Amino acid sequence: MAANPQPKSSAVPTVKLLIDGQFVDSSTREWRDLVNPATQEVLARVPMCGPDEVDRAVKSAAEAFRKWRNTPIAARARIMLKLQDLVRRDMKKIAEVLTREQGKTLPDAEGDVFRGLEVVEHACSIGTLALGEFAENVATNVDTYFIRQPLGVCAGITPFNFPAMIPLWMFPMAIVCGNTFVLKPSEQDPMTTMLLAELAMEAGIPPGVLNVVHGGKEAVDALCTHPEVKAVSFVGSCAVGEHVYKLASQHGKRAQSMMGAKNHAVLMPDANKEHSLNSLVGAGFGAAGQRCMAVSVGVLVGDAQKWIPDIVAKAKSLKVSVGTEKGADLGPLISKQAKARVEGLIEDGVREGAKLELDGRGIQVPGHPNGNFVGPTIFSGVKTQHKIYNTEIFGPVLCLMAADSLDEAIDIINRNPYGNGTGIFTQSGAAARKFQNEIDVGQVGINVPIPVPVPYFSFSGSRGSRLGDLGPYGKQAIQFYTTVKTVTARWFDDATVSTGIHTTIALK
Ligand code: NAD
Repeated sequence: MAANPQPKSSAVPTVKLLIDGQFVDSSTREWRDLVNPATQEVLARVPMCGPDEVDRAVKSAAEAFRKWRNTPIAARARIMLKLQDLVRRDMKKIAEVLTREQGKTLPDAEGDVFRGLEVVEHACSIGTLALGEFAENVATNVDTYFIRQPLGVCAGITPFNFPAMIPLWMFPMAIVCGNTFVLKPSEQDPMTTMLLAELAMEAGIPPGVLNVVHGGKEAVDALCTHPEVKAVSFVGSCAVGEHVYKLASQHGKRAQSMMGAKNHAVLMPDANKEHSLNSLVGAGFGAAGQRCMAVSVGVLVGDAQKWIPDIVAKAKSLKVSVGTEKGADLGPLISKQAKARVEGLIEDGVREGAKLELDGRGIQVPGHPNGNFVGPTIFSGVKTQHKIYNTEIFGPVLCLMAADSLDEAIDIINRNPYGNGTGIFTQSGAAARKFQNEIDVGQVGINVPIPVPVPYFSFSGSRGSRLGDLGPYGKQAIQFYTTVKTVTARWFDDATVSTGIHTTIALK
């Protein structure tokens, strides 16, 4: 995506900002082309906002907060009920736009919308999710209770790989808790997110309660340092996530960063072979490997090492094509730069001595010579010192490693700095239980390749994949987007009030 300082061309649509309930053109001088990764067709131009436009959005959100914070819970929940209905209504339309700008296949794009929709459904239960607690008679005539209150203006910064699901992890939960929100979607595919913003307006979210700005570092840094922003939720790469977490925290904000990953799947020799191999290949190459929960390392234990030819055969059978084509299994990478980076890492793997079992470079997709396609690629004999093992490749590249025992496999995974997700494939309850107990990774699948929790739980990536104690959706999001106020109250009849001055701290 090329930066372009020229004024926007009238032939190509522009991506709007949402400020104060209005979809408006940005006044920035810097615009970028948003291209279809399968064709390089320019779909729209994206404004790169600076601090002024971020300030306008935050001020609108701060003003709207004054009223929204006291809007009854049921009224907020009803808007979410309406929003889930609208997202369901427009699912196919949203998925089509998502495929065009992001590249993933249509069924996968629908999955992206659906996993976000589930969070909106969960937000409808706010009436019971954000309850406080009450203790009667903690001392004579004294009760103590806590209430959950919204924080104020919250901000969300999202990555390119789930342009529906991840914005929906954030703004519905923040808003239903009584906060107002400024969202900064990825500049690589913001059109999907804007469709969701339109639906949010249609659902009845009042002006200023949800705002959207676009751009990159300048806009993000302005959000992280703005005095009116109380909390920042980030999802994206480690390098940017660490920067955002640090900057927002230094400026007194509550912060959370969900970041990069290297997810391992352990295949035990007693596993159901067909299920395990299908899971490994699906989770390794689906969405062209551009998922933070993609399986990028297979650890083959003992006799499971004999399955390499079967893994390669299954990977070869996948169809690489444009996301709109029926039967496509994986589409293009998001950009030419991403393709060049992934191909460079494959070259590194070859140079460092890993065995290239399947090479996806140079793949041709008929009718689409300009797409950013890389086919499924498999290395075996991968060692922990290899760059392809130590780097989040974020492409359709699967590294296969050998281990003699489950203990060795667990040791490999626990020494890897990331902790987003992992899985074990086995028929043994004892092996699965040992793995669940000893593995130091926040999300564990047992015969499940991509263990992303449903929204009544929370996303719980750990270690190098996350900064901050609380996850972005589920019960932890309620904690993230509210603050607890504890009240200790004494009510009494004048006739029964005790007399005398108490100088101790104990309540009587
Ligand atoms: P990215 O870090 O490049 O971008 C994320 C956001 O940060 C975007 O909105 C972008 O505009 C902004 N940004 C980019 N550079 C910036 C800078 N220098 N300063 C401030 N802001 C900046 O990530 P991406 O390439 O869009 O997404 C892929 C990454 O996201 C992968 O590492 C993937 O693992 C991770 N991811 C993690 C999760 C999770 O839940 N752990 C989920 C999805 C994606």
